[in-house]
Amino acid sequence: MGDKYYMFVNGEFREIEESRGDYVRSQYEHLDKYIARGGYKYFGKFLSEDNKFFILELLVKAGLLGGGALSRFKTIASSANRPKYLIVNGHEGEPGGFKDRLIMERNTHQLLEGALLLSLALNVDEVIIAVNERFRNARAMIEKALGELRPYLTSKGLLNKLPPITVLLVGSPYIVGEETALINSLEGNRGGEPRLRPPDPTETGLFGKPTAVINVEVVAAVPILISNYYEGREIVIEKYFCITGDVGKPGLYREKLTVGLNELLAKAGGVKEEDVKAVFVGGGVSSGLAHSSKIRVRLTPEETRKLGVFLGPGVIIALSNNRCIVDVMLEVERFFSHESCGRCEPCRLGTKELVEVLEKVSMGKASEEDLKWAETVARTMMETSLCGLGMSAGKVFLDALTQFRDEFEEHIRGVCRAGVHFR
Ligand code: SF4
Repeated sequence: MGDKYYMFVNGEFREIEESRGDYVRSQYEHLDKYIARGGYKYFGKFLSEDNKFFILELLVKAGLLGGGALSRFKTIASSANRPKYLIVNGHEGEPGGFKDRLIMERNTHQLLEGALLLSLALNVDEVIIAVNERFRNARAMIEKALGELRPYLTSKGLLNKLPPITVLLVGSPYIVGEETALINSLEGNRGGEPRLRPPDPTETGLFGKPTAVINVEVVAAVPILISNYYEGREIVIEKYFCITGDVGKPGLYREKLTVGLNELLAKAGGVKEEDVKAVFVGGGVSSGLAHSSKIRVRLTPEETRKLGVFLGPGVIIALSNNRCIVDVMLEVERFFSHESCGRCEPCRLGTKELVEVLEKVSMGKASEEDLKWAETVARTMMETSLCGLGMSAGKVFLDALTQFRDEFEEHIRGVCRAGVHFR
């Protein structure tokens, strides 16, 4: 596949029209090739900077980190409490997400350079790349890349000046991707249970020490941002989008953050706007559900926030008019119920309640009172769950119920407009 650039579409790599160095590679890239395309070009220059924290500011400017992250990460950079850790979060457990695995397997040296640059900016003592146990090939590729990198860094007299990088497998349950649950897993505690906040991991994280948890896509973007910065190029605000669901060309796309959701869906298979019922935007099923009437939203952090969704991992799942929204939500809530760690009641019991009500609605055996009860349960989950899983489970249910209440009510009367039930 040479040095061309590819999209991962329908399970295959396809050459993209305009070759771009910042796209995911077609296969594992050896260190020599990475260096030949500009890898480590500015590493020495960056090393000599007095204030290395500006990388974090570039990430915020590029829309890859939220503004609140800056003050959290400043705490780490300036803390005298040692050792300090950077955890690269390679869990990627969201349904529909697959970009981080590809970056770890193919753009491996770009990821490692990004991790080293960030470790210097954050002034940490160790980098841990936490990889989902399902991604064993990604772990093997990172180990392979570390084997190539160590002699290179030694030859440049850098190895002893940089923190060590360790790669560890963590459990695959969805909740392990939450940063405090990830820290718990790495400590060998009961896997997949989040911690109460405060304290924030940047103050009391791994083994009680200051810890930054940053995801793979953000870390891998750092070398590109640094090159653009030193070469005086514009900081382009782009990110990867994993698009699946009812589109003709599900795959990985890289787009400017000003792209419209409708334009993105059109690229992913020419789905007509009038054929779209709804779209899970941002974190797949955990971020929020947008009605087709909102499909022209620009995917900037500001506009998506107004829509009530979080762009986060860029996981987009399209639902066509042929989908029964009750069926979809039943599957979503079954997923959350299965993945709930059970630590807090609003989530442990609430997800089960929502599944029960949705089962009744899908069979046409629910009442208006059941819908009202489910609404109360979902609101309580949003307001009182300990972590994002329970909050998300409540929120997406409310998103669906408020935007498609007519379809839920039709189901109660034994009518399914998608034609999936009661035939
Ligand atoms: Fe566990 Fe759910 Fe509570 Fe999170 S919200 S702590 S996953 S029970």
